[in-house]
Amino acid sequence: MSCIEIDGIRITVTRKNIKNLHLYVKPPDGEVKITAPLFVSTQMISAFARSRAQWITQRRAELRERTRAEKAGYENGAIRYIWGRPLRLRAEKGERTCVTEAGDELMVSLSGEITPEKTAEALKAWYREKLSERIARRMPYWEERTGLRCSAWQIRDMKTRWGSCSTATGKIRINLLLAQKDAECLDYVIVHELAHLKQADHGACFKALLDSYMPGWREVRKRLNG
Ligand SMILES: [Zn+2]
Repeated sequence: MSCIEIDGIRITVTRKNIKNLHLYVKPPDGEVKITAPLFVSTQMISAFARSRAQWITQRRAELRERTRAEKAGYENGAIRYIWGRPLRLRAEKGERTCVTEAGDELMVSLSGEITPEKTAEALKAWYREKLSERIARRMPYWEERTGLRCSAWQIRDMKTRWGSCSTATGKIRINLLLAQKDAECLDYVIVHELAHLKQADHGACFKALLDSYMPGWREVRKRLNG
């Protein structure tokens, strides 16, 4: 491993038995890494990095902004949702770590240091618990109504999808963020993923299935993605 510097940005270079140069800008702070084939000279790597300098700067700024916004979302006064209901976040020191709803406040007691990271951790565990409780009730309900059964389900902290279903294993994954959306959104995602057990794609047959299971699904989907 070695280092180069382009426009004041430190880049870590790792040489590997690979064919092409790869450039990575990593969260949370926009650390820049290059992996390079064994035969490529440091000069060539520098030239490659320089040709991408503008993109690197832009991507680093984006990542840092995302990290800043994520942290701000876990500071006192930030608005968090539970089943579509907005609550104002209040983190304070407590004897043990726990999360409670109190009127329009979401109280996060932390036994240790109060940081956005610790608050996020406690809050995610709480969301997971809430979501898990509701899935445990709603999954059997929808399995009964549709006659479709998943082999197992799990909650995942996903970035790009509300849910997924493996038709090979019959396993369904539900996005942790759904605990913040109104409860019908969770129902829609459960129905959507169950329907995949019968129909893999999102074609006309799939939509007809959804129409028969949950006639108002289009409205719910709009809310979910809105
Ligand atoms: Zn789908």
